[in-house]
Amino acid sequence: MENKPPVLGSAAEKTRNTPNKGGKLSIKDFEIGRPLGKGKFGSVYLARTKMGHFHCAIKVLFKSQLISGGVEHQLEREIEIQSHLNHPNIIRLYTYFWDTKKIYLVLEYAPGGEMYKQLTTQKRFSEPTAGKYMYEIADALSYCHRKNVIHRDIKPENLLIGSRGELKIGDFGWSVHAPSNKRQTMCGTMDYLPPEMVVGQAHSDAVDLWAIGVLCYEFLVGKPPFEHEQQTETYSAIKAARFTYPDHVKKGARDLISKLLVIDAKKRISLEEVKKHYWVESMLQARLRAEEEEKNMRAASLRNH
Ligand code: ATP
Ligand code: MG
Repeated sequence: MENKPPVLGSAAEKTRNTPNKGGKLSIKDFEIGRPLGKGKFGSVYLARTKMGHFHCAIKVLFKSQLISGGVEHQLEREIEIQSHLNHPNIIRLYTYFWDTKKIYLVLEYAPGGEMYKQLTTQKRFSEPTAGKYMYEIADALSYCHRKNVIHRDIKPENLLIGSRGELKIGDFGWSVHAPSNKRQTMCGTMDYLPPEMVVGQAHSDAVDLWAIGVLCYEFLVGKPPFEHEQQTETYSAIKAARFTYPDHVKKGARDLISKLLVIDAKKRISLEEVKKHYWVESMLQARLRAEEEEKNMRAASLRNH
């Protein structure tokens, strides 16, 4: 048996509030900077190590809130999963430690902030930007699925942006090790749930394929395809995969989205096919060319000064 460190500590440790004596790190090893955001169970701060000045984000969670929220197991799973993932489009969980009251997750810092905020400010993304993000998320999820990890909660709120403008999956709170036939608890938004989950059927890693179809639509349109005033309308639209495109969404993107938003989970195109899809490929190239041009222009203007 692998000898894993306890995440929340044993039951005895929790009640007695024993400090993390065996742990190597503590919050004293960090300088804490500005708050980056607040979640349901804690806050995230920019931080750097006192030794080496290594930048990171520290998520601080209160044990008492985790316990009263009944999410200790979910957090343990999130930690277990995220600490084993190492991919350029997934936020790294470097390490974690705890003291009597709190648990600290030391995360890779995403300087670009929230994808959701970017989308709200820009209303919608250009085709090259959306296409590049689609390539990046398909590559990250393909890596997860190879490790039998299903994300299950892909949406702009769970995505961050890295220092080079790249997409980063930031949250593994709902992910599971496949296979799963768990019923989806109906909390939060339904917008990204696939038909098999809204009707409570067993689901597979193809739930993430549906979700990136919804995501691609939202990137290009600014709102998800099944959004309706009434939840019952959203429910029936998802079940029938019924949605329409605004005129500005071009043929290539429609082709990709229509191959992901397929009711039959087995008939959705694979993540590798998404990466090679002609629209994704051409948009990725267009975006990389634009980035290269921008870099050259910046270099030229520096030379002229
Ligand atoms: P939930 O409680 O449902 O997980 P959440 O994802 O918004 O909600 P957190 O994961 O605690 O909550 O994160 C809070 C906020 O902190 C995020 O919305 C984001 O703005 C910011 N944040 C989190 N992690 C990072 C990071 N690694 N780099 C930069 N900002 C981050
Ligand atoms: Mg979160």
